[in-house]
Amino acid sequence: MTSPTSATSSTNQNAKPVIPHWIDGKACTQADAATLNVFNPATGEVVCSVPLGTHDDVDAAVASAAKAFPAWAETPPIRRARIMNRFLALLNEHKDALAALITREHGKVFSDAQGEVMRGIDIVEFACGIPQLLKGDYTDQVSTGIDNWTMRQPLGVVAGITPFNFPCMVPCWMFPVAIACGNTFVLKPSERDPSASILMADLFTQAGLPDGVFNVVQGDRVAVQALVDHPDVKAISFVGSTPIAQSLYQRGAELGKRVQALGGAKNHMVIMPDADLELALDALIGAAYGSAGERCMAISVAVLVGDVAERIMPALIARVKALKINDGMVPDAEMGPIVSQQARDRIEQYVGVGVDEGASLLVDGRGYQVPGREGGFFTGGTLFDHVTRDMRIYKEEIFGPVLACMRVKDFAEAVDLVNQHEFGNGVACFTSDGQVAREFSRHIQVGMVGINVPIPVPMAWHGFGGWKRSLFGDSHAYGEEGVRFYTRQKSIMQRWASSMAKGPEFAMPTAK
Ligand code: NAD
Repeated sequence: MTSPTSATSSTNQNAKPVIPHWIDGKACTQADAATLNVFNPATGEVVCSVPLGTHDDVDAAVASAAKAFPAWAETPPIRRARIMNRFLALLNEHKDALAALITREHGKVFSDAQGEVMRGIDIVEFACGIPQLLKGDYTDQVSTGIDNWTMRQPLGVVAGITPFNFPCMVPCWMFPVAIACGNTFVLKPSERDPSASILMADLFTQAGLPDGVFNVVQGDRVAVQALVDHPDVKAISFVGSTPIAQSLYQRGAELGKRVQALGGAKNHMVIMPDADLELALDALIGAAYGSAGERCMAISVAVLVGDVAERIMPALIARVKALKINDGMVPDAEMGPIVSQQARDRIEQYVGVGVDEGASLLVDGRGYQVPGREGGFFTGGTLFDHVTRDMRIYKEEIFGPVLACMRVKDFAEAVDLVNQHEFGNGVACFTSDGQVAREFSRHIQVGMVGINVPIPVPMAWHGFGGWKRSLFGDSHAYGEEGVRFYTRQKSIMQRWASSMAKGPEFAMPTAK
């Protein structure tokens, strides 16, 4: 069993803090729990550790959530929304503290972390409108004296499993909407950057959330498997890499659960010859190298149509070489380190693969050092040209600051390239031709499309989701799709004695 601890606890003065679980409204860890180190990727130093949640921890969190569910589901939506409103205010008060935790454990630059927190807050704000979102529909007089209406009811205990790259925003795609709908929630955040989840849980409790409505179990795949298999967990939201998304989707389906599992990506930016190339270049640099390319909506392929490559390549090379790479807390840093040494090594190995495959390496980011931060997990921006469809650096998700440029002759070839790729998360088209933009939006086989917008992450009320192997399941995250995912429809038909026909009816009833 877990026992209560302070929100960050340590066993002795010199030990790094242990980021606990949050179960039944309290921080808790087992004294002898196995733990994993959490690093500051900018320095390579251990900043804290995180317990590896066990089956018992998951059982305790689910039991607490199951106990809290009946009363929470009965709480009127307006009262749930009021607690959400107080949580919103507390998040706004602590948004820089959250952003600093993200930079410390993820490495992204502070202004980017602030942006992430804001996009998470947007969804909490959306969830404050839950009374309106849960309104059902009603038909008076479907037959004489009979009315029919539908309502949406919460599912019970639901779980969320989230990746390292957005430790605040991606959990916020899930738990505020699920909880506002009347469910209780167990979050399993990434073990790489666990602290944001505990600060959010603490703030939500301070906002008046009853114990057990929001729980956090730290850990790795052991905790994930225990959650997915737990008979009292009714639905799973997952965001992470495609192989795991697919296997959790399959396991959940086998157990008869609702699953939405968002996976990996390879996002293209098509630049047409008529585009404003200065704007396109700015957009490309930010979208390919921002957050060191560790965004599921990062642009990793630039599709240069016609003569665009000749026109932008010298400036593109210069811009990649000039990237300001540093500790994310340094004010003018544009790109921080990679989340872990293993991830940095994997990215640099891919650069070697690209060279072996025959792509032109125009800027080589391997072995990048930041003075004073020699232990950090840095790599520089890498730029390839003449990448082709058969290369692994095109087909596979690298998830780092590596941009592959591909040259195509026309719009049709660009659209075909994007549509043939196995992933379909995000895509962008830069053009000044409205007809091209319209055709692109209509025919592209991708879930989120930007026209002169490089990273088209939909706003809180629109919902987020890719196509093809970027999403397993029927519904997108958050927005009205999220409300539907976390509720089920019930249809009610009523009549009262005065309009009842006398005697039994054996034929299928029709409107009378
Ligand atoms: P990951 O798949 O390694 O981990 C995601 C979560 O799954 C973590 O909580 C992790 O602990 C858990 N996990 C890891 N291995 C597991 C296993 N074998 N069984 C069960 N659970 C397991 O992903 P990551 O490295 O944290 O994040 C990067 C990936 O997430 C990239 O592929 C990126 O494209 C993707 N991502 C997708 C979206 C999207 O919306 N489509 C958003 C963000 C990130």
